[in-house]
Amino acid sequence: MSVIFENSRFFRQQGYINGQWVDADSGNTFDVTNPATGEVIARVADMGAAETARAIDAAEAVQAEWAALPARTRCNRLERWYQAILDNRKELGQIMTVEQGKPIAEAIGEVAYGASYIKWFAEEGKRVYGDIIPAPMTDKRNLVIKQPVGIVGAITPWNFPSAMLARKLAPALAAGCVVVAKPAAETPLSALALAVLAEEAGIPAGVINLVTGMDAPAIGSELTSNPKVRKITFTGSTRVGKLLMEQCAGTIKRTSMELGGNAPMIVFDDADLDIAIPGALAAKYRNSGQTCICSNRIFVQDGIYDEFIERLKSEVEKFSIGNGLEEGVTHGPLITEAAALGVESKVQDALEQGARVVTGGARSENGPCFFQPTIIADAVPSMRVFREEIFGPVAPIFRFGNEEEVVELANNTEFGLAAYFYTENMNRMWRVSEALEYGMVGVNETAISSEVIPFGGMKESGQGREGSRYGMDDYLETKLICVGGLDRK
Ligand code: NAP
Repeated sequence: MSVIFENSRFFRQQGYINGQWVDADSGNTFDVTNPATGEVIARVADMGAAETARAIDAAEAVQAEWAALPARTRCNRLERWYQAILDNRKELGQIMTVEQGKPIAEAIGEVAYGASYIKWFAEEGKRVYGDIIPAPMTDKRNLVIKQPVGIVGAITPWNFPSAMLARKLAPALAAGCVVVAKPAAETPLSALALAVLAEEAGIPAGVINLVTGMDAPAIGSELTSNPKVRKITFTGSTRVGKLLMEQCAGTIKRTSMELGGNAPMIVFDDADLDIAIPGALAAKYRNSGQTCICSNRIFVQDGIYDEFIERLKSEVEKFSIGNGLEEGVTHGPLITEAAALGVESKVQDALEQGARVVTGGARSENGPCFFQPTIIADAVPSMRVFREEIFGPVAPIFRFGNEEEVVELANNTEFGLAAYFYTENMNRMWRVSEALEYGMVGVNETAISSEVIPFGGMKESGQGREGSRYGMDDYLETKLICVGGLDRK
């Protein structure tokens, strides 16, 4: 095992429970692999249900104390944590690139993006206001206060190993909740590194617990069935999200679900291609196509169809794929070889149904996890790329004739996370924005995400919102205090 960061204080291979770095009870570990090189970069504690239960007990022991702190005290510690992450973002970015594959500039950007949620909720945490509601009787007063929901179980994916965790920890801790989290087995190192800095920033033992392990069903079952856990927040696939919601039903836990997407990007004839092309490149190929808000289906109107494809092609062919640590590399590998094979089979299905390769179209010589940046034209709705999340650097282009037809096509999916469209027509801008059944709509813009906006989906893309002032609600209970008998003298 030879990696650039093995002397880093952020490089941890044990779980983090009750402020202690701990091995699995069994002593077993699992391998974490660099998808760009195939090299094993870490052997991390392989924990299961028993360690999860202990982490929940540790959380329970400090829940009341953490919740009772003045919001300002909690938030000051979050501010310190935010600053520490920013100060160390380069080192954290390197860890991420090596375990996840994204180019170093993107990885550093993700660290800063995740940290921005910590800063945001450090501010919002001081503004958890209640209400006084006029009572229907003169002898009563109705007060509404907000209280933390309690112990939160968090499960996060590998595609944004730092930001998806930060986005959950920040509002939870600011609200006064404590957390037991399970990072994805492919990418536990970025999560563990965040815990190192949380500890240094003064977040007390037991407030953040990280359970690492390969047996996600065992860890997940404990989190979802243990009555001490009051809420599950999950980012990942719709399949696993549904399973977790079923499991949560037994103890009626609150849930927040950030699930899969199938984002349409619509380019109307009247679009300005000078902004639509960069928008398409960013929305489709960021993180090599492995984001939940990647444009999955690109609909281009008849009049500009050929020009759009030609211009997109010439930009895509400038990409440089390879090891994300290397200078000049714009696109890294997919997370696993299985992921690359999955993308290949979707492209194959499209080609068998009459699509044509404009560029790319195959796995790459860079290594088993790589797939060439690809454009396929003449895609149609019967193809898998219309129905399923591609999660790879493949842009399928669908031709359409009119607005009504394309809105119907765009909404023809069980998903409803993000949608984008490009037009210079003001009336159309409002019409289409309101007609799209998506939690987030980008108009002439695909860089929609930041800590100030409510990120989340409709339909089978989930429920709840992360970020913005709405994001705190997911971690708060609304309690009525009704004071009566006030007419007595
Ligand atoms: P995934 O397979 O659902 O895994 C996500 C997390 O769930 C991982 O930590 C995984 O652990 C865990 N998990 C898997 N099976 C489980 C079970 N039975 N019980 C409890 N936990 C379980 O998703 P993924 O492939 O890692 O992530 C990609 C998906 O996430 C895509 O669908 C993407 O759209 C979605 N996503 C959504 C958002 C959003 O905000 N809406 C953001 C990013 C990603 P292991 O890694 O150990 O299997």
